[in-house]
Amino acid sequence: MAKHFTFDELTHSDTALELGIDNTPGDGAAGRLAILARRLLDPVRELWGAPLTINSGYRCPELNSAVGGSASSQHLSGEAADITTGSREGNRRLFEIIAAKVPEFDQLIDESSYSWLHLSYREGKNRKQILHL
Ligand SMILES: [Zn+2]
Repeated sequence: MAKHFTFDELTHSDTALELGIDNTPGDGAAGRLAILARRLLDPVRELWGAPLTINSGYRCPELNSAVGGSASSQHLSGEAADITTGSREGNRRLFEIIAAKVPEFDQLIDESSYSWLHLSYREGKNRKQILHL
């Protein structure tokens, strides 16, 4: 699927398991997840030079509702992943690296004072938006 990330990492959800939700994406979302992983997450991982943890990748509508995600969330379409280096300081540094060095992404969001980073990729429609939420 990608060099550094597996399909399982990008679809796994503890909440889905707890609630018995089948979080398997359809073909369209699965294809977009693979593009996200190869074109954005792999290059980010290589710039960082150490493992990154995926907190949340694809979310089916039921899971997205269960975790309070927005109805227009790119997690629903397989275009977004929440990642962490394991620390806020690391996430802050990674945010700066992505903003400075990654040529193409849709959104780079610092969530809750660098608790995690939300990254998205939309093939052919990348806006390169940088936000702090
Ligand atoms: Zn997110």
